Amino acid sequence: MLGALGLVTALAGSDAQGQGPYARARDALLKEVEAMARETGSETGHAVFSDRVMAAIAKVARERFVPAAYAALSYANCPLPIGHGQTISQPYIVALMTDLLDLKPEDSVLEIGTGSGYQAAILAELAHRVYTIEIIEPVGRRAAALLRELGYSNIVTRIGDGYAGWSEHAPFDAIMVTAAAPAVPPALLAQLKPGARMVIPIGAEGEIQFLHVMVKQADGSVSKQRGLPVRFVPLTRLD
Ligand code: SAH
Repeated sequence: MLGALGLVTALAGSDAQGQGPYARARDALLKEVEAMARETGSETGHAVFSDRVMAAIAKVARERFVPAAYAALSYANCPLPIGHGQTISQPYIVALMTDLLDLKPEDSVLEIGTGSGYQAAILAELAHRVYTIEIIEPVGRRAAALLRELGYSNIVTRIGDGYAGWSEHAPFDAIMVTAAAPAVPPALLAQLKPGARMVIPIGAEGEIQFLHVMVKQADGSVSKQRGLPVRFVPLTRLD
């Protein structure tokens, strides 16, 4: 029988892709994400997520990114509170937004809204380097410490207002915004490479938000495609 300490160790240990307390819940989640992708495929254009994206979802131990009180719900297909009024997104939405970016192993990606760090970890499984910005200092610090502990040496974190992007590391192959803005921040569009994509929830506070995919064309113009209705915390600004 596991003593109390043994149980804590088992729960805290990385369970990714192995057996352990979350293995069954994770398998069920992967099936649910695939089923939701099929159901929403006509609206998203992505009825099947790539094997690389599904492998990243299978690999990253979501239980490490949710507060201990919600550990049992780590692999439920729902958003969860992470403190400071913020949330870790629903796994299906994480998978969808990641799939929409169509990342290549050599890509450099910017994420606005580090939150728990989970989405950054998923991106880091698929791209060369991930730059992620969080506006709430304790939230950003906690994510940075966790990502370091998990060995993600290809994620660069920063505390600050992501509205202005991260010009020192621009241009990017892909940008993901995980908080909703009333309109696309112009600096983010400017920091996309030609051919690069951005996924961003757009909607004013209190209104329905829609996921949007923006693609920067070779001539610098930007195409914009509206996707599913979503619900994200607002993109806030530093005064
Ligand atoms: N991607 C996160 C979930 C993000 S929740 C995850 O995987 O857990 C949205 C996050 O965006 C919150 O933590 C919020 O504080 C942050 N945020 C809001 N406005 C921001 C801004 N202007 N710049 C950077 N981060 C911002």
